[in-house]
Amino acid sequence: MKLLFYAAKTYDKKSFGPVNEKYPDIVIDYIDHELEPITASLAKGYDGICAFVSADVGAQTLTVLKECGVKYVLMRCAGYNNVDVEKAKELGIVVKRVPGYSPESVAELAMGLALAVNRRLYKAYNKVRENDYTLNGLRGVNFYKKTAGIVGTGKIGAAMARICRGFGMKVIAYDVYENPDLKDFVEYVSLDELLGRSDLISLHCPLLDSTYHIINLENIKKMKDGVILVNTSRGALVDTDELIEGIRLDKFLGVGLDVYEEETGNVYEDRSDEIMKHSVTARLLSFPNVMITSHQGFYTMEALEAIAETTLQNMVDASNGVVNGNDCLK
Ligand code: NAD
Repeated sequence: MKLLFYAAKTYDKKSFGPVNEKYPDIVIDYIDHELEPITASLAKGYDGICAFVSADVGAQTLTVLKECGVKYVLMRCAGYNNVDVEKAKELGIVVKRVPGYSPESVAELAMGLALAVNRRLYKAYNKVRENDYTLNGLRGVNFYKKTAGIVGTGKIGAAMARICRGFGMKVIAYDVYENPDLKDFVEYVSLDELLGRSDLISLHCPLLDSTYHIINLENIKKMKDGVILVNTSRGALVDTDELIEGIRLDKFLGVGLDVYEEETGNVYEDRSDEIMKHSVTARLLSFPNVMITSHQGFYTMEALEAIAETTLQNMVDASNGVVNGNDCLK
């Protein structure tokens, strides 16, 4: 079986290479190009393609992939909001993903961002490097005995809830389903109550129509003054323009974002020599209480190995017609 691996980075080859040895029936060709309608035609003659969070796996791309004979779309990530699942179904293309490769890898980054913005670690690091040992602008708050509000308590949200409990925080959560594994220490509340009670809000729900811009100005106004907001899930959960307005209203002690609306086109690219002409992100970065990382939640050794293993097993299962729980069905 032949697999075309789009937008391949060196780290992808390093993690998939050794795992591929256990799947000798799969021949992988790695290419730099991102998957989009124009590059989809490169998949001619391949059984499957492998894509990531910034790929455009919309109707047009899928139609070209189908014409090329592609039968399987293997997403090497958990979220699949960039895939037109209905269209894939209509074309008879199987779409699988890696739902739970290492929830702790993302949850630990979420707490890392919360701590970094709380204690302004990015500022502290630079100050000391510049021989500035003053504490100006570095005062934070204790997390101990504060309230953490987790939006979405699936695998990653649950891992974040456990981390927050470890910090001695009271943990409350909002989800459309309650996670029975958390019933001993998590109190489920409405979204409004979570917004009003939390000192730290961490987003872990998927991007759906129902969660698009779940953090908007109206909801920001319901939050406590001095709240910390962390988003490691998907950029469009937060309305960036309204977040900026909320920051200007002095709502936030800190905002930590591993994902943001404008990230497509930036993710994993070096654009340091470019002038950003219309960037909202640049405006966001001008605030002293905002830290942005570039979608690195999944980027730990453990997670990469698990992603490679599951993706290749997904291809084997797809070729055998096995529905294995990793299928993107809606
Ligand atoms: P999951 O499916 O295990 O959990 C998602 C949870 O969100 C579920 O409990 C679900 O009931 C809940 N949910 C659904 N609709 C909701 C709504 N309207 N309001 C509140 N909760 C709702 O998923 P997961 O593995 O925990 O991943 C969560 C998200 O994290 C993914 O969708 C993906 O977007 C993101 N992610 C980011 C990275 C990264 O590198 N930053 C890596 C992996 C995943």
